[in-house]
Amino acid sequence: MLEQLKKEVLDAALALKTNKLVTLTGGNVTGRDPETGYCVITPSGIAYELLSPEDMVVVDIDGNVIEGEMKPSVDMMGLLYILRNRSDLHCVIHTHSPYATSFAILNQGIPCALTTLANEVGSDVPCAPYTRPGSETIGIQVVEHIGDSNACLLAHHGVIAVGTNVHHGLVAAVMCEDAAKVLYLAKTMGTVERLPQEEIDYNRELFLNTYGQ
Ligand code: 13P
Ligand code: ZN
Repeated sequence: MLEQLKKEVLDAALALKTNKLVTLTGGNVTGRDPETGYCVITPSGIAYELLSPEDMVVVDIDGNVIEGEMKPSVDMMGLLYILRNRSDLHCVIHTHSPYATSFAILNQGIPCALTTLANEVGSDVPCAPYTRPGSETIGIQVVEHIGDSNACLLAHHGVIAVGTNVHHGLVAAVMCEDAAKVLYLAKTMGTVERLPQEEIDYNRELFLNTYGQ
């Protein structure tokens, strides 16, 4: 079942590797099918390049396995908590991307000081307090802190990026890391200033309504 979504989820997981957002078996990808409400999630602790689409695990929103032989991601209950509480979202991507995670280690969010972050993530990236990997509290903290951003840092752990579909979730994960990297470089040379809210809104609007084909 959900063959297309399984392929999208695995392709996004492979893209996490290509974009250097995870090392070895870190991170995970979850996509929700809007028709059935079932979620497709990457299996726990296996290198993505060894997997095929049939290895993706289909679960219901409470985490009961509907189809699949492998154990789903250890973070599943937290990831499903986010989707259960945000009906507008259909993808949650978790990474340990190094520049963004450097901010997370310092318990700092990423200020929206770049047009590209405003375009694709839409806001500052907040940092949610530390909670244990594998616990539902990761999801509870993200829902509480993410606001209208498409990404949220997990203190001492990594990044959660979200989207209305798998493609948008992946774009948010990549751009969050890209912005963190540029910001890190800028911080070595001077003080970073957040864009005025009016400009953040303008850039987000431009991306949503004018940018691209
Ligand atoms: P999984 O491989 O079980 O998804 O775990 C990866 C991870 O990043 C845990 O936080
Ligand atoms: Zn993790």
